[in-house]
Amino acid sequence: MKFNIALVPGDGIGPEVVGAAVEVLEKVGEKFGHEFCFTTYPAGGAAIDQFGEPLPQTTIDGCLASDSVMLGAVGGPKWDHLSGDTRPEKALLGLRKVLGLYTNLRPAKIQPALADACVLRPDIAAKGVDLLIVRELTGGIYFGERGLDEDGQGAFDTERYSAAEIERVARRAFDAARKRGGHLTSIDKANVLETSRLWRRTVHKLGETEYPDVRLDDMLVDNAAMQLIRDPSFFDVIVTSNMFGDILSDEASQITGSIGLLASASLGETARGMYEPIHGSAPDIAGKDIANPIATILSAAMMLRYSFDLGEEADFIEKAVSDVLDEGWRTKDIKSPDAESWLSGSEMKEKILEQLDK
Ligand code: NAD
Repeated sequence: MKFNIALVPGDGIGPEVVGAAVEVLEKVGEKFGHEFCFTTYPAGGAAIDQFGEPLPQTTIDGCLASDSVMLGAVGGPKWDHLSGDTRPEKALLGLRKVLGLYTNLRPAKIQPALADACVLRPDIAAKGVDLLIVRELTGGIYFGERGLDEDGQGAFDTERYSAAEIERVARRAFDAARKRGGHLTSIDKANVLETSRLWRRTVHKLGETEYPDVRLDDMLVDNAAMQLIRDPSFFDVIVTSNMFGDILSDEASQITGSIGLLASASLGETARGMYEPIHGSAPDIAGKDIANPIATILSAAMMLRYSFDLGEEADFIEKAVSDVLDEGWRTKDIKSPDAESWLSGSEMKEKILEQLDK
């Protein structure tokens, strides 16, 4: 099969890690008989320098014409003085908007070989962490009406959700639970918030009518924050609102170890999605060949699974990454504190390519 992929490498380490993911996809294409065609578009600080705006129309058009988008990261100190719509981050929000991406998927997994990097108690880490957070991305309090009193002494933000907005993200979560362990936990604050009570009713109605095979339970967000530390092996798939998802997904990423290992996907109504590592442009290590490419390589695996329905190929990449880590290979960010040598970013990429060839 043939797939057109729009590459938006962005700034800092973005081009390095996206370049590594491209080589991995090319290798998988060779092995499985697929053709991945890549076109690169500017965004973020790089686009500001070249075109005077963070998200040029050519980038929007190219992404809309693609089968899926792979993003590196945007931003850096060079553009920190800019404000509002002229900032590099505007490219991210702009792309999410034009591509209609209302769901964010973030897996959090402890790679068995890296269990010692996990911040949890060893007996809890040993039980494993392998969960997926499905977060609503375009609604809720981050997009609601807000204001500041004239005297600056009072302010408000509004959380508002429609049943349709809840249902569409819940559907994504139920579908994901079906492809994984068949367990979905819906997280809310239904003991206090009216929006949460609507959230809970809507998710249950969908579960009863369309997903009776998925085990559904509810958890209050404060209990969920504790459960993630106490015993995250309880969770398979989590679905939650924009703000709760923002906080819980960062908490989950921290318990697993390095930011350089964590992938993400943003999805909308069509198969086209946007795939990116959760880390930023890491200007402190850009151009030094230190950046760990694994988060972006695992994002490429998510693209194969969620946009192209190539589950076997996605498993193949994920297994190659696990095998390389099992063999003890480490980049600087995931090495044990007393290790005196480590792989550069490009050496890690080569190890993964070699593994894919075995
Ligand atoms: P960051 O994620 O870029 O870096 C945080 C720390 O993690 C740094 O020490 C960095 O060296 C390290 N790190 C990040 N990715 C790594 C990797 N792949 N391998 C090894 N180490 C890695 O976060 P920050 O420093 O807060 O932000 C830097 C810039 O990135 C800012 O301009 C910020 O706005 C931007 N940012 C962009 C995105 C995005 O594009 N999605 C997300 C977060 C931050």
